[in-house]
Amino acid sequence: MSLDFRARTQKLIFHDVEFDKFRGIMLLDESVLNLLPTKPFSLSQISHPTAFETCMTTNKGLAMFATRDIVAGEIIHSENPAVVVYPFLILNFDMTQSNVYRTLFDRLDSPIRDQLLALNTGELSTACCVEEGIVRNNGFAIMLPIPVMDHAPESLHSGVFLDISRCNHSCNPNAFHEWDLPSFSLSISARRHIRAGEEITVAYVDPDLPRDERREKLKYMYNFDCECEICAVEDKGRRVYCPLPSRVRQKLEI
Ligand SMILES: [Zn+2]
Repeated sequence: MSLDFRARTQKLIFHDVEFDKFRGIMLLDESVLNLLPTKPFSLSQISHPTAFETCMTTNKGLAMFATRDIVAGEIIHSENPAVVVYPFLILNFDMTQSNVYRTLFDRLDSPIRDQLLALNTGELSTACCVEEGIVRNNGFAIMLPIPVMDHAPESLHSGVFLDISRCNHSCNPNAFHEWDLPSFSLSISARRHIRAGEEITVAYVDPDLPRDERREKLKYMYNFDCECEICAVEDKGRRVYCPLPSRVRQKLEI
């Protein structure tokens, strides 16, 4: 069954997508859906032996840890999104925003939904349901193609992942994430050598921003006070950020 509805300038559609390991659900503008690559979204071309596990921490919930040494530039993990949402919902009909997010989660298979519901919601406002809190607090920015037309939607979407959404933030991360449209997957790769047992972290905001601006964004967007080692020791105007290895810089075309 397909469910769709009209917003002021968009026709948003719930769309099921079969990946290799599970069925994901997307809530997209119809015009964006028509521009997505067709199936199969296979990860088979990206091969890498398992390099991480998720473990419980004392203060940050489940997190990703390296199970072996990982060299700089190595892909640690690639994953299709369980949920993709166009985050700028402009609703103009009788379905509340909470109902939209609940419907989205209800369409997931139970094991996938249960894994997503175990993610941290952050601090919820009274108008925000648990499902929306999970998307807002755990979503990674992914860019999807948009039609060339007036009133086109933004290309920025939010993807929630079963494993990668467990990856915590650091202002001096040891990994970085990259969205790959053809395989419809997000990868995390090592930005420097990572030792076995080390927590794998990425930056949720631009780590080159000044300390106060970074922390303000993290508080506003993810509702936490960053306690990473950089925030703890960084003086105003003094950066101690670890530079990217040259081959990673090259890959990122920095
Ligand atoms: Zn920090």
